[in-house]
Amino acid sequence: EREALAGFRSFTPKRADGTVIEVAANLGSLEEIEAAKAAGAMGVGLFRTELLFMRHMHLPSEDMQAETYAALAKAFAPYPVIVRTLDIGGDKPITGIDFPEEENPFLGWRGIRMCLDRPHVFKPQLKALLRAAVHGNVKVMLPMVSDIEEVRRTKTLIDECAAELDLDGVPYARFDLGVMIETPAAVLVAPALAKEVAFFSIGTNDLTQYVMAADRLNPTVAALNDVANPAVMAAIEMTARAGVEAGIMVGMCGEAAGRPDLIPRFVEMGLTELSMSPASIPRAKKVIAELAGRAA
Ligand code: PEP
Ligand code: MG
Repeated sequence: EREALAGFRSFTPKRADGTVIEVAANLGSLEEIEAAKAAGAMGVGLFRTELLFMRHMHLPSEDMQAETYAALAKAFAPYPVIVRTLDIGGDKPITGIDFPEEENPFLGWRGIRMCLDRPHVFKPQLKALLRAAVHGNVKVMLPMVSDIEEVRRTKTLIDECAAELDLDGVPYARFDLGVMIETPAAVLVAPALAKEVAFFSIGTNDLTQYVMAADRLNPTVAALNDVANPAVMAAIEMTARAGVEAGIMVGMCGEAAGRPDLIPRFVEMGLTELSMSPASIPRAKKVIAELAGRAA
């Protein structure tokens, strides 16, 4: 069984119509690159940048971030790497940002909300990403988006960062900007969001907790915290339809992306990228291969 799966590592899974389904890795640090490549990752669908910020006693510098994102891009070229901008809140405080005490951190000042309020945190990250984008395969996505204005304000900030890099003569390139779809609000305005961005990535971990109103960390409501619940599946389908109709890529980077029982439905909905823990990659490829075989 293990050997049979190993055969799928360098395999490129395709839908019955020939469209490639990108099976990518979720990573939290550069140390995980080798294992992801060995598992057959076709790029990175989610690079969580929180660890970069939590590892040190100070905010990571723009230079240090630019080096990290460039190393990631080079390791997976020509496959894309999707870097998620900082997604942190009061439940995981970090040095350099003053978080308020909150009754409900999951409904509070986190992710894109905090970043837009703290340009001294956000701008160095955006500049580092613009610099790393000269490698050609860097994409960027925003976490916890619930209002289209958050995307527009981020674009303005990116323009500002680009202008500053121009002024300083620092080389950079533009990157594709996407949003995570992980709040019910984002699902409900997905058709409008799709006109603003290059791709969607569905974050089922948070989307499930917010659709079901069931804390993802609370074992007492774990039964409700189920991505296969019809309400969550409907939200995923609405997102996929909005993205497909707008002609943008729709992917998924929550844990559900690696579930063999759900992958056939996600592919049928039109998702063309599934990003997961490296260990889940070979089996996911096998599931997609079998799906195409049956349809052919
Ligand atoms: C998600 O919410 O599904 C996701 C991928 O992000 P995280 O688990 O880091 O919140
Ligand atoms: Mg999330």
